[in-house]
Amino acid sequence: MKDKIHPEYKEVTVTCACGATFKTRSAIGKDTLQADLCSSCHPFYTGKQKFVDTAGRVEKFNRKFGGEYFKKADDKKAKK
Ligand SMILES: [Zn+2]
Repeated sequence: MKDKIHPEYKEVTVTCACGATFKTRSAIGKDTLQADLCSSCHPFYTGKQKFVDTAGRVEKFNRKFGGEYFKKADDKKAKK
């Protein structure tokens, strides 16, 4: 590797919002990293439903696309 052009790649401690901590390596230049999800609490790994809702995004989505929105889209597809 070339000298002085590479960021320092060192061990960092990741702290998840669920309280889990684990170590990994990163070039972010800090010793710690805050994560919202990790392999202990992500629905993909837990198999449980979990809403990661910040600032009412789920409500906004439901207001816009909830109710009849997808039913109409399905009707159009069915006619083709
Ligand atoms: Zn977590």
